[in-house]
Amino acid sequence: MIIELKSGITGEKAEELARSAKAFCINDGEKFLLVNASSAKEISPELETFAEKVFRFNDDMQLSSRSFRQNTRNIVLDDICIGDGRHTVLMAGPCSVESETQINASAHLLRENGLKILRAGAYKPRTSPYTFSGMGRKGLELLAEMRAKYGLKIISEVRDATHVEEVMEWADIIQIGAKSMYDHGLLNRCAKSNKPVLIKRGFGSTLQELVQAAEFVLSGGNPNVMLCERGIRTFETKTRFTLDLCGVAWLKEYCNLPVILDPSHAMGYAYGVPGLSRACVAMGVDGLLIEVHPEPQKALSDASQQLDHFQFSDLVASLHPVAAAVNRKIV
Ligand code: PEP
Ligand code: MN
Repeated sequence: MIIELKSGITGEKAEELARSAKAFCINDGEKFLLVNASSAKEISPELETFAEKVFRFNDDMQLSSRSFRQNTRNIVLDDICIGDGRHTVLMAGPCSVESETQINASAHLLRENGLKILRAGAYKPRTSPYTFSGMGRKGLELLAEMRAKYGLKIISEVRDATHVEEVMEWADIIQIGAKSMYDHGLLNRCAKSNKPVLIKRGFGSTLQELVQAAEFVLSGGNPNVMLCERGIRTFETKTRFTLDLCGVAWLKEYCNLPVILDPSHAMGYAYGVPGLSRACVAMGVDGLLIEVHPEPQKALSDASQQLDHFQFSDLVASLHPVAAAVNRKIV
């Protein structure tokens, strides 16, 4: 249940009401919101006198639900707006930062293609302990150099609590990976900041679980959350995962968070990425996350799925008319 308090109520009073209702208290611009479980249906007579509006839900998709807020939330990074319904924002770059030469080539490619958000991991969650796990802090420093040199924004992932403060400090968007979607330590830390957070769907997670992961961040007071569909595990083994476009349609219908699609991790092979990217843009999504590497065959992680620079530039060119067909622009 979400209780929107009348305007003019002080933060102190809102906190007091939240404590007695065992609810989260969120400062939502002009007004305070009290949020507790969807199973709560009644409010006390005292609270009633302070309530402007009460929203009741069938499940715990509450702050992220279109029945609470009809319009998609906007995530604004200077001149970039994710979720405005008019743009599909491309976030692209290598799976991992590997060297200055490599990340510089990636940043340069983005600028050449008129793009503004560079993706790359400095701390990589891997499925084997014997594989490259990222450059760590040095990787973040290189990303910050690229931000300064090319005027790009940076999205980078946080793998675990040991470096969450570092990534918070250096990245413009925090990526919570598919394997970390249930890490409440990370979600709660992100909730205490206003920094945009991109939560990737766990490959065995339902849409309900994904939106509830987002609710951890939203209920803690950070409204800047976006969701990323990156493929789920099905019985199919020919592709790495299965991109759940039906799930994307559901999210767009019922959830007010911007939806980002990651065809690279879903497919697992570069040959499928351009076609899937066009399909995603045709669905009118808010953004794409695409892996591209100057020498994909030499990549230290996710080599098979990264586009080379020629493939990437061709892809971007082909996305413009698709975006125009659904009244969007690629940025
Ligand atoms: C990545 O974006 O490089 C990544 C590790 O993705 P995921 O968490 O979706 O596996
Ligand atoms: Mn990757």
